[in-house]
Amino acid sequence: MNRRCARPGCGRPATTTLSYAYAQRTVWLDDLHAEDSPANHDLCAPHADRTHPPKGWDLKDRRELAPVHRLRYAG
Ligand SMILES: [Zn+2]
Repeated sequence: MNRRCARPGCGRPATTTLSYAYAQRTVWLDDLHAEDSPANHDLCAPHADRTHPPKGWDLKDRRELAPVHRLRYAG
């Protein structure tokens, strides 16, 4: 298993899996899932930290290894 960040031009090792549900308007960040699902996106830590949800959506960060600096987004 050697998964890389899904952001174009990045290529760093993925540490985080991003998943989302339209019905709940929610985006989740989790420690890298064991299973690689085409519905999810694998991201490196810097890109995961810069993730922000679409307007009106919630972002729920469930990673255990939380970064020291947590970015917060209003709304
Ligand atoms: Zn990346």
